[in-house]
Amino acid sequence: MNHPGTVTLVGAGPGDPDLLTLKAVKAIRSASVLLVDDLVSADIVALAAPQARVIHVGKRGGCRSTPQGFIHKLMVTAAREGECVVRLKGGDPFIFGRGGEEVEHLRAEGIEVRIVNGITSGLAAATALGVPLTHREHAHGVLFITGHAHQGAPGPDWRAVAAMARDARLTLVIYMGVSGIGRIEAELRAELPAHTPVAVVQRASLPGERQVVTTLAALAATVAREQLASPAVIIVGDVVAGAAAAARQPARFRVA
Ligand code: SAH
Repeated sequence: MNHPGTVTLVGAGPGDPDLLTLKAVKAIRSASVLLVDDLVSADIVALAAPQARVIHVGKRGGCRSTPQGFIHKLMVTAAREGECVVRLKGGDPFIFGRGGEEVEHLRAEGIEVRIVNGITSGLAAATALGVPLTHREHAHGVLFITGHAHQGAPGPDWRAVAAMARDARLTLVIYMGVSGIGRIEAELRAELPAHTPVAVVQRASLPGERQVVTTLAALAATVAREQLASPAVIIVGDVVAGAAAAARQPARFRVA
């Protein structure tokens, strides 16, 4: 499906190999070079052909993450050498994670690029919780938003986000939010009630997945106490209330 000299950005989904698309599996199997993010699980990388060259470009082994410019260079060089290049990214390639920049760079270099969707971790997290993000009794829509600002740039205006979530009845799905949770909680509380239900799902679809259901007022304290860490998605809104009820049953849920 991918051809020599092209680069295919493939969404590896949230982690569980069963959540890959067939198109993703075909692309991974036919790749001669794979550039792999650190959020992609080993079981998925194992689908690559035995002779394929696999390059990890994440933070594995405690190393600093590979500079984005170097990843661009590797992709361009391999494509020009006639390799079938797959850039394997966690979740969906176009939900955060800099897929947009990679495509722009490759196109500017005259390299053909294809994109294969993956299940974004925000959706996998909601499904793990059993939460319908747009349950019509609670929400008119959903906002995928990053908690992490681009270097030097201001992050989201959380008060404006909270006001919009309240007024337009939107569920918030926050990526990369754990490290800035104190500020996010404080700003969201300026416009949203303290009792707004919130869920944190760490390692959605992966072994060791954790789910914690709490309220906005207790969010930062809960994250600290439960030692919740990246990769995690935070879901804010009344749709989470159903999960709080379900959470009283299975043991792997925690209501904090
Ligand atoms: N393109 C990815 C997102 C990349 S940004 C996607 O569509 O999912 C990286 C962030 O994604 C992490 O900080 C975390 O917020 C989220 N994430 C990725 N995998 C996750 C998982 N298995 N469980 C929970 N959150 C995850």
